[in-house]
Amino acid sequence: MENGKSWKPNKPTSRGATDYHEAVADSSWNHECLDPIIEIANNTVKDGDILVDFGAGTGTSAEKLLKKINHKINLWLVDNSPAWLGKAYEVLSSKENVDFFLLEKKENIFSTLSETVGKSSVNHVLSANTMHLIPNLKEAFTGIQEAIRPGGKFIFNTGNVLREGRDEGILMLDSTVYRVHDIAIDLIKNNDEFEKYRKNIDDKVKFFDTQRKFVFPLPRPKEDYENALKAAGFKDVKTTYHQYKLKYSDWIKFLKIRRLQAGILPEIGGTTPSPEEAKDREDIIIKSAEILFKELETDNKFADDKSYLGEWAYFEAVKPKPSNNSGRIALVTGASRGIGKAISLELAKDGVNVIVNYRSDQTEAEKVVEEIKSLGVESICLKADVSKYEEVEIMINNIKEKYGKIDILVNNAGIVKDRSLKNMTLEEWNDVINTNLNSVFYTTKLSLPLLKEGSRIVSISSIVGLYGNFGQCNYAAAKAGIIGFSKSLAKELGKKDITVNVVAPGFVKTDITKGIPFVKKKVINYMTTLKREADAEEIAAAVAFLASDKASFITGTVLNVDGGLAF
Ligand code: NAP
Repeated sequence: MENGKSWKPNKPTSRGATDYHEAVADSSWNHECLDPIIEIANNTVKDGDILVDFGAGTGTSAEKLLKKINHKINLWLVDNSPAWLGKAYEVLSSKENVDFFLLEKKENIFSTLSETVGKSSVNHVLSANTMHLIPNLKEAFTGIQEAIRPGGKFIFNTGNVLREGRDEGILMLDSTVYRVHDIAIDLIKNNDEFEKYRKNIDDKVKFFDTQRKFVFPLPRPKEDYENALKAAGFKDVKTTYHQYKLKYSDWIKFLKIRRLQAGILPEIGGTTPSPEEAKDREDIIIKSAEILFKELETDNKFADDKSYLGEWAYFEAVKPKPSNNSGRIALVTGASRGIGKAISLELAKDGVNVIVNYRSDQTEAEKVVEEIKSLGVESICLKADVSKYEEVEIMINNIKEKYGKIDILVNNAGIVKDRSLKNMTLEEWNDVINTNLNSVFYTTKLSLPLLKEGSRIVSISSIVGLYGNFGQCNYAAAKAGIIGFSKSLAKELGKKDITVNVVAPGFVKTDITKGIPFVKKKVINYMTTLKREADAEEIAAAVAFLASDKASFITGTVLNVDGGLAF
């Protein structure tokens, strides 16, 4: 990642992207289109927030957002066109607080925002005049919703929307493009200057319909946007309208963008016009626009000889903060990194407040706490070596004083000290048994008074506890011990409606497996049905399920999360 940027172009900026940038950057309609978005943003964002400019194109909106948002923001520019984003990169990559992301195409569908920048990774998403181009609104909105942190906003506008109550004289941006097209076709049919394009013109109009609608899609009712926002999980959906004067001189600049002309009048030259066709196409488009302006001047009460009145619709929606589980408290041991960290974040996404236990690395533990808080729930970290009874006792007393209860206990902390039994020292045996097994006894026993009806205990064992593994007698004994312990405790606590379960991961990409030699990793992956190691999040998902209300009738069970590993 050169320059610290997440995406960078591998081609020089295209002429088309520069033309577009120049035509739009200084036009007053572009400025006015962004003003209401900026006003909402200025009332919403805080210093340090990450904002996404979705559909950032060549960076014209981003330049303005950076100038006019009066907070220290980080701005991420996201687009699906490498050519356009390349121009944005040329203009803005020198700025420290700006980053770039490309929506990759997979099997004809572009990846969503959350697939591109990660779930719950940004504070707010803004988007200027892009959403009407997206065919599947629900899918795009879901990706945006998933990428936003709870409480964050999604604000976008479009000039291409149908709604009741708008005065006929107030125009949609794209409807004037459709009119330019129709006038152009009339010119071809009736003006001898353009006779050479007359042959089969009606068939061509039909043939190129799809191409035109791809660049300038037909407007959708405003309810389509609102319903898609709600279906994607947004709430507090609000729609407002702002009128603006669109200057004919700015509109002509826009109509001169060659790339857009393929959408305005594809009947001449399609996507690859000859130089002559390109010139004629532009002449006809400009002539048609001038005819349109005259029409407007005489027939439209809001138009004069310099401009017409257009309208933008603005949509605003909030990603709700989780509330279903709110008030629940989880203690996750060994949560400063690896699987414990992933479990803590997954629980936080379900609205659970998380206590992050760690042994040594306070800085990392505090970072996890901050990440959890950004998901809209409470979090603290507590230092305790869980292999030591006294330290666990102090930690649990702290929790008792502060929260008075534990709803979810996750026994996750663990270490390895691998050696064949012949060479294993007493210290290596004791360290692993104390950290991986005795800790489960200490933490669970001391937590018992804080666990009320409906609480959950989930402990992390390993497939090694089920099948054994060369060089891991100590680890396998501890992990098998966790299974026996949990099955017995499930029987003891069943009458209190407390469930006790075990997750047995296979091989997971964390620090603990970093030491496994490359060849052995290959063998492990080969033996795993899914032919890979797990990500920590895949283990966390299973833990979060067992900790949730959905798993209310599951107890005393061992859930293998091992990708089908066959020993
Ligand atoms: P990891 O990346 O090494 O993280 C281990 C975590 O446990 C760290 O946060 C560490 O904190 C903490 N910890 C270690 N000893 C502790 C102690 N005495 N008191 C409090 N915290 C302690 O390991 P991981 O892969 O996430 O493993 C998590 C659990 O999953 C372990 O029980 C492990 O046995 C099990 N597991 C892992 C795999 C795998 O392939 N990764 C497979 C099966 C099972 P400090 O940094 O402060 O020491």
